[in-house]
Amino acid sequence: MELDHLLEKLKLDHLEHQLDAVCEQASQRQLDYKDFLVQALQTEWQGRFQRNTEARLKLARFPWIKTLDQFEFDFQPSLDRKQVRELAGMSFVERAHNVILLGPPGVGKTHLAIALGVKAVEAGYSVLFLTLEQLMTRLVKAFNENRLERTLQQLSYPKVLIIDEIGYLPLSNTEASLFFRLVARRYERASLIITSNKSFLDWGEVFNDPVLATAVLDRLLHYSTTLNIKGESYRLKEKRKAGLLGRPLASPEPELPAPA
Ligand code: ADP
Ligand code: MG
Repeated sequence: MELDHLLEKLKLDHLEHQLDAVCEQASQRQLDYKDFLVQALQTEWQGRFQRNTEARLKLARFPWIKTLDQFEFDFQPSLDRKQVRELAGMSFVERAHNVILLGPPGVGKTHLAIALGVKAVEAGYSVLFLTLEQLMTRLVKAFNENRLERTLQQLSYPKVLIIDEIGYLPLSNTEASLFFRLVARRYERASLIITSNKSFLDWGEVFNDPVLATAVLDRLLHYSTTLNIKGESYRLKEKRKAGLLGRPLASPEPELPAPA
C-alpha cells in the first residue's frame, strides 16, 4: 500500500499533512529509526491534542475568553495570588474540589472563573460554563418535561461546571431544590466553580429557604477553596481612567481651600 493511503486508512491526518516537514527534519538531524518514529507519532499526537482542546473550548461555551495572564493581581490586593496559582495547577479538579469566588460586581470573579476553566480545558478536562439563569432555565424545563434525571446526568458529566452569578436573582422553591439536587449529584465527583456577589450569610435569602441554603453550602464547602475579593470594580477603574467618573469613594477629594 502507498504511504498516503496507509496514513489515510489509519486516520493519521496530522502526520499526513506534515509528513514532508517531519521527513526533512529527520534527515537533517540524522535520526535513527526509533527517534524518527517517535517524532512522527508525536506530530500526530500534538495535532490531535490541539484539535481536541479547540473542540472542548467550544463545548465549554465561555461567554468570552480571559486568561490568568490577563489578570492584574496588583489591582486586587485582597486576592492571594499564590492561592490562584495553586488552583491553576488543577489539583482541585483532580480531587473534585470546588472553587467559590465571592465579591461585589466588577472585581473579576467571572474573569477568574473563565481563566481557571480555560486552564482546565488546556489540561484536557471537559468544562461547561452556565450563568445561574441559563442553568435554571435548563433544569426547570427538564423538570417540567419529566426528564430531569437525564439533564442532571448531563450536567454531572463535565469535570468542571462553572455557575456564574449566584445572588442576582432570588430562586423559587422549585429552582432552589433543583439547584440542591445538582450540587448533591456532583458532590465528591466533579468540581464546581461558582461566583456570587452575596456572602454565604445571605444565601438563605437567595435560596428563599435557610435550611436548603445550609444543605447546599454544606456540600459545596466541604471540599472547597473560597476566594473572597474585597477590592474595587475594575470596570469602574477603566471608566475612571477614561475620565467618565470621579475618584474612588474610598479616597475622597482633598478639600479645596475656601475662596478668598
Ligand atoms: P465580576 O464577574 O466580578 O462582576 P468581571 O470578571 O466580569 O467581574 O470583570 C469585569 C471586567 O473587568 C472584565 O472585562 C474583566 O476581564 C476585567 N477585570 C476585572 N478585574 C480585572 C483585573 N484584576 N485585571 C484585569 N482585568 C480585570
Ligand atoms: Mg461576573
